[in-house]
Amino acid sequence: MPEVQRMSRMMIKTLRDDPADAETLSHRLLVRAGYVRRTSAGVWSWLPLGKRVLDNVARVVREEMDAIGAQEVLLPALLPKEPYEITGRWEEYGDELFRLKDRKGADHLLGPTHEEIFTLLVKDQCTSYKDLPVMLYQIQTKYRDEARPRAGVLRGREFQMKDSYSFDITDEGLAESYRLHRAAYQRIFERLGLQHRIVSAVSGAMGGSASEEFLAPAAAGEDTFVHCPRCDYAANTEAVTHPLRPADGSGHPAPEELDTPDTPTIETLAAHLGVPASATLKNLLVKVDGEITAVGVPGDREVDLGKLAGHLAPAAVELVTADDFTGRPDLVRGYVGPQGLQGVRYLADPRIAPGTSWITGANKPGTHARNVVCGRDFEVDEYLDVVVVEPGDPCPSCGTGLELGRAIEIGHIFQLGRKYADAFQLDVLGPQGKPVRVTMGSYGIGVSRAVAALAEQTADGRGLCWPAEVAPADVHVVAAGKALQTELALEVGAKLAAAGVRVIVDDRAGVSPGVKFTDAELIGVPRILVAGRRSAEGVLELKDRRTGDREELTADEAIARLT
Ligand code: ATP
Ligand code: MG
Ligand code: MG
Ligand code: MG
Repeated sequence: MPEVQRMSRMMIKTLRDDPADAETLSHRLLVRAGYVRRTSAGVWSWLPLGKRVLDNVARVVREEMDAIGAQEVLLPALLPKEPYEITGRWEEYGDELFRLKDRKGADHLLGPTHEEIFTLLVKDQCTSYKDLPVMLYQIQTKYRDEARPRAGVLRGREFQMKDSYSFDITDEGLAESYRLHRAAYQRIFERLGLQHRIVSAVSGAMGGSASEEFLAPAAAGEDTFVHCPRCDYAANTEAVTHPLRPADGSGHPAPEELDTPDTPTIETLAAHLGVPASATLKNLLVKVDGEITAVGVPGDREVDLGKLAGHLAPAAVELVTADDFTGRPDLVRGYVGPQGLQGVRYLADPRIAPGTSWITGANKPGTHARNVVCGRDFEVDEYLDVVVVEPGDPCPSCGTGLELGRAIEIGHIFQLGRKYADAFQLDVLGPQGKPVRVTMGSYGIGVSRAVAALAEQTADGRGLCWPAEVAPADVHVVAAGKALQTELALEVGAKLAAAGVRVIVDDRAGVSPGVKFTDAELIGVPRILVAGRRSAEGVLELKDRRTGDREELTADEAIARLT
């Protein structure tokens, strides 16, 4: 049975003013309402109210993961280097990885994601096909030394993630584990009250093939996605690999020549091209030796080697092999995956000779190169154009004008395939008595980020406004007066608590009713029950935090209503 939480005894300090460094609504409100406190850049402490919301999100995630048969485990966050060296991620992760040494000088890392360690666990525990399929998950602290930790718990350097991993012996098995996770994620976000869209995504550092993201539309989001108002097409713009421009070449002004020694930055390009701020720049088209080719904008810096062979200093570039293409639709325009053509086709650009198909050759080994710098590794005759995605560009499946939206990535699911199983030779004895290579999926939810995403989507001008499932309490009882009001508030609060309702009672002495009301709105519990003027008659006022609707009820009526 929950106890009444008396504010006079709780460690709650609300702030009247926004923290100076807060850029987003959720950051401002979670700090002001006393849910979280910054410890250092991107590292946060969860205070009593915040911890409850965080635990509520974790509970929903846990219930739905258990419901699909996933088993909860807890692996360490402090990990040895060796497994990450085997997969190459010790290097590949770059500056985002927290690396540290122990007293003997051995290298360790703080886990940013755990594919390697789960693969090794299953290699140790599962030896026969009869041990599979298996789905494992944990809700755990993750570490990423983000270049720009921002917006409070939205992008932390230490944060809570639910990560799960599936192990199957067949592709169909993997597809089923993926489908189960996808459906569980839909239920989780529905229960949490988070509006979301499922979009095609780029696999990024995970590798692997199919991948989808769960995006929570919000102005504070760092992801841009395109979606079709007519059909269900939606994709992260990171995954959109074609220009999506009308075939007549209209859309944005012809670019001027760029005078820059290096691959231009996105900002330089946008300024030179005069494209709208809402546009997302993808590949830069350049003319080299009379031929048009594409260079990835910074981040990727990848070029079609077919066109540039002979121009590049071999030491400067890293060749991209066919394996690298699998699941990296961002590296090629249109790509061939396990289900055939999975990428989107490059639309004909009027400035490119008719019939040029950018997909041909893209999947052959050694046809692309990474880390290429225009001007340094080859001479550029002319900078031509960038591939942009703009609102109104035609939807690849139905042609309707696409809309752009901003969103927060709250979940990401991957069909990894055999990348990690190959790296660690994860085999089990198959039904025919021969070893079978295991195929994997990995699935993440940002548990702490979901708290911020919920705050972004639900808060209003007065403060936080939690959906019932995650709120730190069900009812916030305000004693708006002196002894009489406090007595009634505590009495009603105790009865509600006895009936299983989670109650906060603001019984603070010497705090004005006005301050208590403001705090109640800021804290954002769904129902506010006020013991005020008519307390002597045993009448209270019940207020809905979201709608502001209020009604007067006797104590018994209020208890009946709220239980
Ligand atoms: P982002 O694009 O925002 O950097 P990501 O694609 O790097 O996220 P994944 O590797 O897919 O993240 O991790 C799974 C989930 O973990 C993400 O969908 C997100 O919800 C959450 N997450 C990732 N990085 C952070 C972070 N720095 N702080 C809080 N949550 C995070
Ligand atoms: Mg990231
Ligand atoms: Mg991402
Ligand atoms: Mg992701």
